[in-house]
Amino acid sequence: PNSQTPQTLVDGNVLAAKSLARFGIDRMFGVVGIPVTSLANRAVSLGVRFIAFHNEQSAGYAASAYGYLTGRPGVLLTVSGPGCVHGLAGMSNAMANAWPMIMISGSCDQRDFGRGDFQELDQIEAVKPFSKLSVKAKDIREIPESVFRVLDCAGSGRPGGCYLDLPSDVLHQTIPESEAETLLAAVEGSFAKRESVSSVPNSEIEKAVSLLRHAERPLIVWGKGAAYARAEAPLKKLVETTGIPFLPTPMGKGLLPDTHELAATAARSLAIGKCDVALVVGARLNWLLHFGEPPKWSKDVKFILVDISEEEIELRKPHLGLVGDAKRVVELINKEIKDDPFCFGKSHPWVEAIAKKTKENVSRMEAQLAKDVVPFNFLTPMRIIRDAILGLGSPAPVLVSEGANTMDIGRAVLVQTEPRTRLDAGTWGTMGVGLGYCIAAAVASPDRLVVAVEGDSGFGFSAMEVETLVRYQLPVVVIVFNNGGVYGGDRRNPEEISGPYKDDPAPTSFVPSAGYHTLIEAFGGKGYLVGTPEELKSALSESFSARKPAVINIIIDPYAGAESGRLQHKN
Ligand code: ADP
Repeated sequence: PNSQTPQTLVDGNVLAAKSLARFGIDRMFGVVGIPVTSLANRAVSLGVRFIAFHNEQSAGYAASAYGYLTGRPGVLLTVSGPGCVHGLAGMSNAMANAWPMIMISGSCDQRDFGRGDFQELDQIEAVKPFSKLSVKAKDIREIPESVFRVLDCAGSGRPGGCYLDLPSDVLHQTIPESEAETLLAAVEGSFAKRESVSSVPNSEIEKAVSLLRHAERPLIVWGKGAAYARAEAPLKKLVETTGIPFLPTPMGKGLLPDTHELAATAARSLAIGKCDVALVVGARLNWLLHFGEPPKWSKDVKFILVDISEEEIELRKPHLGLVGDAKRVVELINKEIKDDPFCFGKSHPWVEAIAKKTKENVSRMEAQLAKDVVPFNFLTPMRIIRDAILGLGSPAPVLVSEGANTMDIGRAVLVQTEPRTRLDAGTWGTMGVGLGYCIAAAVASPDRLVVAVEGDSGFGFSAMEVETLVRYQLPVVVIVFNNGGVYGGDRRNPEEISGPYKDDPAPTSFVPSAGYHTLIEAFGGKGYLVGTPEELKSALSESFSARKPAVINIIIDPYAGAESGRLQHKN
């Protein structure tokens, strides 16, 4: 057809792809099939990189992490019915972590709904508990505005997941190209007019500064909301001008290097147990921070919470709540301090106490790490991995981590030196995110190597995506801590197990010494099986410099580590 004639028609697939591209989407994750294959192909023709997965669950995890890493919604494309249901894993993960993403699912023909159509489901209802907004385009003309609305909502206020439903009849409907252009331009016009306004009253900033200034044992805590807001520069300035110790949450690690002299990470219990004023930036006082309550925190601690979400502040009822963007609010705090600066200084008793405790704990840990234990426990390979990662310098790799013991021990041992270089099981404790996160990180930060440090159980959730790594030749090295099961071997007391299936493998156990490295070899990637420090060092050195997809299968003593990792009290 001649594209000059006004009668050229576009269908819903083309219009959806155009809308995404026009509103700034250049990466998509998903699984194609009826009725959205053409949407993916059209998007590719418009310059969008489409990363095709094996399962929507992993693709959804990738979209959620991509949103976090880039600050723009990650996009998941799925087929109808079961595809949408699999994708809910990603949507729910985005909601729990407050990361921006959208899921676009095809759905069955509207005229056949309710008569048992192919992959029929009321998807708008299904996604409701897992989304900030769900929109169905009931006519092709509604597509541009619907795409815009979900993208806009996912990224505004507290980020989260939004859903767009595109019925197959709408995807096949056509309108003249000129009409499509008019619709796109109209939405774009309204987009250009919007401006984000966030202002915290100056009196509140003054109160915050006064609380910090007069504190005896102040602490600055930040989380992945501060990382998302790219607040590293003002936070560095705040920490360094005031001399206040800081504690990042797991994904907040790296905004300032873990090795910074004011880092209280290794003195966490002391820092949170004794601080009298805590400035908490972009982190919820949820289970990860012990709800901000005794016995972990002192009952008299005064919280100053900085959060984009007013609801969050209302929920926690802090001493002082500052609603706004983390970067902006910390800049305002710095500005207020500048006129009358204060610094706690290294010899301040609180700063000294934290430094002393940090030193003690670090040297105790180092003594443990220094030993070469074979068959491997968790610590020996973790130290070797830490040193290999540090040897890479800058840009630091993105570290993806999941598992019980593997993640807990990795969090303490591995060193984060740059912002947004850690992705883990997060607020929801989601297992199975590893491969999706690796792919998202490789796509979001092409200059960085991606290193996953995973338990064998976490890896197994989405192990087939190693083929995706190979297909796109992504620079991802997946290290599997293989201890033969969830938490490790069979830890049951044989006297407590009876019944006809008592001889079955324990619910926690997998095939011992499974050959996970051979999975990637099936697709032409590189696999390594290691059991000694020398073998591990050599595999790391080779795979890190190759920057090609690899799986390193580390055989760990199945009885090393603890059941439920650090969360034993919850199991
Ligand atoms: P962590 O798991 O690291 O403790 P959480 O996910 O619990 O972090 O908390 C992140 C918080 O950051 C959420 O309450 C979210 O509303 C908030 N947040 C998200 N974006 C911003 C932003 N730009 N500025 C300030 N806070 C933000």
